[in-house]
Amino acid sequence: MTAPRGVRLALACAALLARASTARPGAALPPAEEHARAPDPYDMFDNSPILLLKACGQGEQELLMGEIEDHPCTLIDQVGKEGACSVTAVICPKPLHFEHAVAEVFKDDAGAYLRGAGLPRAWDRRSQRSDDFYAQWRSYDDILTRLQDVVDAAPGVAVLESLEPATHEGRVIKAVRIRDPAWAPGAPRIVVNSLLHAREWIASMVGTYLAEYCVDKKRSDPSWMAGMELVIVPVVNPDGLVYSQTSNAMWRKNRAVNAGSSCRGVDLNRNWPKDWNGGESTSTNQCSETYVGPSWASEPETQALGAVLLEAPVNLHLDIHSYGEMILGPWSYTNADHPDKATIDAIGTAMQSAIQSVNGKSYLYGTGDAGGALYLASGVAPDLSTHLGAYGYTIELPPANAWGSAGFQPATSEILPACTEIFEAVKAMVEWFRVQDPTPAPPPCLQHQCRHRRQGRCVARRAPTTLPGTRDAASESWEGKTPRHASGSGKSPSRTRAGGTSAVEL
Ligand SMILES: [Zn+2]
Repeated sequence: MTAPRGVRLALACAALLARASTARPGAALPPAEEHARAPDPYDMFDNSPILLLKACGQGEQELLMGEIEDHPCTLIDQVGKEGACSVTAVICPKPLHFEHAVAEVFKDDAGAYLRGAGLPRAWDRRSQRSDDFYAQWRSYDDILTRLQDVVDAAPGVAVLESLEPATHEGRVIKAVRIRDPAWAPGAPRIVVNSLLHAREWIASMVGTYLAEYCVDKKRSDPSWMAGMELVIVPVVNPDGLVYSQTSNAMWRKNRAVNAGSSCRGVDLNRNWPKDWNGGESTSTNQCSETYVGPSWASEPETQALGAVLLEAPVNLHLDIHSYGEMILGPWSYTNADHPDKATIDAIGTAMQSAIQSVNGKSYLYGTGDAGGALYLASGVAPDLSTHLGAYGYTIELPPANAWGSAGFQPATSEILPACTEIFEAVKAMVEWFRVQDPTPAPPPCLQHQCRHRRQGRCVARRAPTTLPGTRDAASESWEGKTPRHASGSGKSPSRTRAGGTSAVEL
């Protein structure tokens, strides 16, 4: 196993000093690149193997998840299924024995393997409105600058807003709001967000592109989105993105400090009230990648995006992740059909066709576990928006699978095609409002007005509620009950449920 980064740097510098001291006077110093490579977020995986763990049967898979959490390993993903067996990839400091799986070394050096994905490159702002921006990974600061430039160039069309509260590390989550002059609360409204999960860098690029190109389209064609509002939040987890791009490329959660634990972070796509801490792909272990948090909506990022979802009725919500190339309609926590499944499917397949029209790429569409293609997940954002009356979708961006491109950070050549494809999907969502129900159009089922449409009529829903910690923190929760607390946050044994990893990342 290699020495820690600081030790290696010191050793490298010491070696150079020794060489310099024995060199002839006046001899040239070695080239700078011999001195030391700059630290990067792949360093911590140098010389650690990627292991493939094959576990067979639901019981063994659940036990394996707990075993992984007990080892000093980083969970990558479930990368395959073979009948009743699943194959899970992890990075461990050395080959380890697992009680509940057969382990095989896939790569000897995870750092070298993952480093192929590259690092964020500084953006040359002189190429301001060029798509060059989307040819490389970009830092959070560059994304914010880009968004500001986009909005500044479109006065009266869009605004860049700061959401509240700020993150644990004090960063402000930004939203681009495009509002047609004829819009009023209750009129059609779409919310798009990306990068709940830190390591899914491509999602931050796609979210930024959507903001840019939707602003441009509304500016050049004022009739587009007539009477509508579109809110785009490109980076919901900026603390995690920065940490992922500088320290640990495989980081998924936010950067919360968990009481009583050295493990940081809450899974921001398990922290939502709908079926929070439920039975699907969740964990109360603070070290788990799917840690649900000490209570629902405990995290400032959840509260900030939640405030956008609650401030006015939402009709369509899109939550952008990677990877898997899928569109997932509600629900995520159960395979039970939503009463409006036919409409949900129509919108989902319209997005699917729109994506395919760009480069011919065929995304899988499904609801629930998509016919077994993935796993159910409790406490996710789109299920909350759906619970509030919207139709909430998840998109899993490229690549289609983990291997050959490291999964979370695919080749940078994949960024721009994904951007253009998902832009068409968002346009299809906008178009749905225009063409739905031509005779005579009943209003869409809105969050504060009605719950479901049955036989053309909206079925009343209960009164809206608010998030704790935001605006009027109400005693009544989204779920109409007080928050439950995770058993693993104290001394009680923690619990992990299988399915937290899959061939896609929800
Ligand atoms: Zn994700």
